[in-house]
Parts: sequence; structure tokens; C-alpha cells
Amino acid sequence: MDRKYNFYAGPAILPYEVMKKAQEELLDFNGIGLSVMEISHRSKDFIQVIETAEEKIRTLLGVPDNYSVMFLQGGASMQFAMIPMNLLKGGKADYVNTGSWAKKAISEAKLFGTVNVAGSSEDKNFSYIPAAQLSSDAVYVHVTSNETIGGIQYHTFPDTGDIPLIVDMSSDIFSRRLEVSRFGAIYAGAQKNMGPAGVTLVIMRNDLIDNAAENLASMLSYKIQSEKKSLLNTPPCFAIYIVKLVMEWLEANGGLEAIEVRNNEKAKLLYDAIDNLTLYRGTAEVKDRSKMNVTFRLTPEELEAKFIKEAEEHGLIGLKGHRSVGGCRASIYNAMPLPGIEELVRFMEKFEKENK
Ligand code: PMP
Repeated sequence: MDRKYNFYAGPAILPYEVMKKAQEELLDFNGIGLSVMEISHRSKDFIQVIETAEEKIRTLLGVPDNYSVMFLQGGASMQFAMIPMNLLKGGKADYVNTGSWAKKAISEAKLFGTVNVAGSSEDKNFSYIPAAQLSSDAVYVHVTSNETIGGIQYHTFPDTGDIPLIVDMSSDIFSRRLEVSRFGAIYAGAQKNMGPAGVTLVIMRNDLIDNAAENLASMLSYKIQSEKKSLLNTPPCFAIYIVKLVMEWLEANGGLEAIEVRNNEKAKLLYDAIDNLTLYRGTAEVKDRSKMNVTFRLTPEELEAKFIKEAEEHGLIGLKGHRSVGGCRASIYNAMPLPGIEELVRFMEKFEKENK
């Protein structure tokens, strides 16, 4: 079978070994003669899946015991609302505006309290990570660790002292080592580095959950969701099962330390090509470049449509930039193998020669 190199931003590439394993187990999971899609979420076989997924996540990230792990629905977008709905209680939060996703988080938070935009890079088209002027009386500070559209990433997180730092890690979770105890909460949609769309991971410090707002709809309450261990209602069973397989794949491949080394190598190879060739230019400031979403333009920009079309014919899929900004974007998540980047770089060199 001719698998393509998949550079889509999300839903995105999944490890080949994970897809193979899911295929092998699709009709007969655990020897029970049924698919994991067909069994009760309260059955012992599924409980083992969700518990193993949580355990692997805890081990890989080193999640301390005083944090809860939840598998929720509604995407990261639901977290844009659930975070302020549960935690803000009419107070004030600091948000850093780094791009499209941060902006969406800000507009949802405004429904539940006061938002102080503590920093913004809108002045330069969100091409860099801005410094933040943090308030002393904020309930929490919210940042977007990797802006999937703009291609910028926090390489070090701001020091927020005793104020909980809450991070949208949708597009770079599990891509590097992390000190979870530095954060009040981390959330991420699964569909980039974790699995298919349909499940959102939330890791939250228990004191924040304990102090969260009361009288919320059950589905939107961290207290209830964590008490019920993500089984308040029918969870997205199949998506959680794939997350479990991806975690096992990560573990078998050396965990976060090893994936970080590989991600650094992949990003360097691609950014070096962008910097050394003359037809391409990166859109993000070098110091804040994302190692997951590599955004670039061609000169002249009119060549971009041809570049994307010919890349596709070459088996390199999904290089079109987000519709809101145009240009090109190569999303190079954990599951993108180094040969995929090498192939892209060879294609960029060839395209440059032919179009100079
Ligand atoms: N945050 C970031 C950084 C994202 O990249 C995305 C989706 N691309 C979202 C939030 C929204 O995620 P979802 O579609 O799961 O709601």
C-alpha cells in the first residue's frame, strides 16, 4: 500500500504501528470476539483501556498524584469555556494573545469574568511569543503553548509564581519533556499528537478542581467529571483506545526524552532548508519557531499554489497554510518520521531548481 506523507495540522498523522495494531484488533479485541467499539464503556475490557491510557499518560508526563486526568468531549474549544466557567467565578484572569487559538480562548473567557490581555503579538501578525505583564490578582494565567496556525511556540513558559498557569497544549503535548507541577492545568484535543478527534485530555491540579464553581451542568463540571473518572456518560471509547495505543507507542520508542530529540532533529532539518534555500522564508521569528507546525511562504507568493499541488502529486499531503493566513505549513508531529521530512526537503530543493 502506498501511504502518503501527511503534513495536515489536525486531524493529523498517527503512528503507522498504531494504525496496524488497531486494524489487527478491530474485529476481535482482547480475544473477546467483539470490537472495542462494540462493548460497554462499563465492561472490564474497556475499563482496562481507559485505566491503562491514564496510567501511561501519568508515567510518560510524570503527572504528580495531586493532579487529575480527565478524558472529556467537545474538543479543546470546550475547554476554552470550561476553564473560565469552573475557575474564574467572576474574577479576573490574564491571557496572552499569541494568535487565533488564544483569541478564541479569550473571547470565551470574557463570558465568565474579566480578561486582562497580558501580552499580545498581534502587532506583528502573531509571528512571535510576546512578553507578558502579569497581574498580581489574577485567578489564573492562560497561554497557548503552540499556535498551530501561526507556527510559534513557547520554548520556556512564563513564571507565574503562585498563580496557576493554564496551558492549551493541543498541538504540542507529548512532543517534549514537561514539568507538570509547574502548571495548574494542561488541556489538549487528541487529534494532533495523541489520537483521533473526539477526546480531549485535561490534566488539572486537584485544589483547582476542589475550589471550582458549583451548580454547573454536570457535563461541564470538573468536579463531577473527575469524581466519575471520565465515565459520567458514554465516553468516546474508540478515541480513548487509540490514545492508549499511541501512549504505548511513545513508551516503546523511548518516551518523551527520545521523542524530543527526534522532534528537534526533524525541525532543524526543515528550518535549515527554509533558511538555506532562496525560494522559501519562514514566517515566525527564529527564536519562537514551532517544532510542530512549520509555517513558510514562497517568493513570489504566486508560486505557492503550484508548490502545494506538485507536492501533493509527490505524495506530500496537507502543506497548505490555514485558510485564515494562507502560505504553507508543514505539521511535523511526533508520528511524522524523519524520512518524511527528508522527502519534503528533497522536493523543496527540486521545486526551487525548476522554478528559479
Ligand atoms: N487550540 C489549538 C492550539 C488548536 O490547534 C486547536 C485546533 N486546531 C484548538 C485549540 C481547537 O481544538 P478543537 O478543534 O479540538 O476544539
